[in-house]
Amino acid sequence: MQAEIIAVGTEILLGQITNTNSTHIARGLAELGIDSYYQTVVGDNPQRLSAVIEIAAQRNDLVILTGGLGPTADDLTKQTLAHYLNVPLVEDAAAMQKITDWFAKNEQVMTANNRQQALYPQGAQPLVNHNGMAVGAFYQSSDSADFLLLPGPPRELAVMFDREAKPKLAAAYGDQAQIYSRVMRFYGITESALATKLQPLIDNQTAVTIAPYAKTNEVTLRLSAQAETESAAKAAIDQVDQQIKTLIGRYFYGYGDDNSLVNVVVKQLIDANLSITAAESLTAGLFQSTLGSVSGVSAVFPGGFVTYANEVKHQLVNVPQDIIDTDGVVSEATAKAMALGAQQQLQTDVAVSFTGVAGPDRLERQPAGTVWIGLAYRQQAPIAQQFHFAGGRQRIRQRSVMAGLDLLRH
Ligand code: ATP
Ligand code: MG
Repeated sequence: MQAEIIAVGTEILLGQITNTNSTHIARGLAELGIDSYYQTVVGDNPQRLSAVIEIAAQRNDLVILTGGLGPTADDLTKQTLAHYLNVPLVEDAAAMQKITDWFAKNEQVMTANNRQQALYPQGAQPLVNHNGMAVGAFYQSSDSADFLLLPGPPRELAVMFDREAKPKLAAAYGDQAQIYSRVMRFYGITESALATKLQPLIDNQTAVTIAPYAKTNEVTLRLSAQAETESAAKAAIDQVDQQIKTLIGRYFYGYGDDNSLVNVVVKQLIDANLSITAAESLTAGLFQSTLGSVSGVSAVFPGGFVTYANEVKHQLVNVPQDIIDTDGVVSEATAKAMALGAQQQLQTDVAVSFTGVAGPDRLERQPAGTVWIGLAYRQQAPIAQQFHFAGGRQRIRQRSVMAGLDLLRH
């Protein structure tokens, strides 16, 4: 079983957008155990699209097209495929109803090309679009390759592929083997360091595939196993999971595709019923904004301080002027005083502080990337840790936030 993804769109060829759709689909195919040896990008041009469809159909069992299902003149994917298959386009009644309803509700005039979005090649199964108008299609053929037609906008594509297409692909091509996968998340280790530590384990794996993936400031590992039953696959993954934790467990912080360091930290705070505040200089609220991204954080986060200027550090969180004068603002003493002051102001269990050089210029003769993060916890004396982050201004600020979260986790 072999599939090729064809992303259709001149914007991709021109570098105006990144082809994230093919990435999304490719991951899904890997999870389904469907091999993929080619990915193609082609512009909105029917001749060239026909040509790549023909080539792809010859060398694959399944061809997946993404993009060009919309109502405009450059959206030609369906028409071109129908022409290749030598079938007419027919209307999906449910999709047509949805389009008509939308236009009625929004008091807009519907034009002929809007009907196009409800069309699909005759003989295919239409696929519901949960985030848009254009229907997708799964066309199974006895004499050529099968085809999957998916929309271009990423949020339409992702939901249609995951919810509508994947189960159909699994039913059509899946063998009895179950594929089970698990995502492990790490902070504080680079992808290359992680790969070096895990290489022997990766090389010796037969049952479980270990795929590292680096995001900004963190690395994830996807462990996938194929087995007759889900429990067998799980058992194989559990074993590798343990081996990985033995090697790099101290960087591990959680499971799941949609998890993140801030989710884990906020959950820990809520579970332990610890309230938190922050005083932020170089991050100017980015840490608190990140906390705010987690729903439910209000249970532990009453608010906090953005203390950019020296006077404001003094005014809002009582950093003594002589500490700033003697030690400087980018210093251990200031970080501790900021954390303690914030904690006292709002009577929280925990307070974090950030003071440092976001750059690009030096501050107090210290280079960009020098950051002190302070932590006050209950009655204990505040602590502070120094970091040297690489990168431009925004990266330094983001890395500071991540490091602050990581400090909290420990
Ligand atoms: P629409 O109904 O919006 O016209 P469509 O199915 O016709 O959707 P396109 O016109 O090809 O799809 O693309 C719509 C938008 O979706 C593009 O402008 C682009 O922002 C995004 N898009 C298209 N293809 C991709 C891709 N392969 N990866 C990421 N984004 C994409
Ligand atoms: Mg379009």
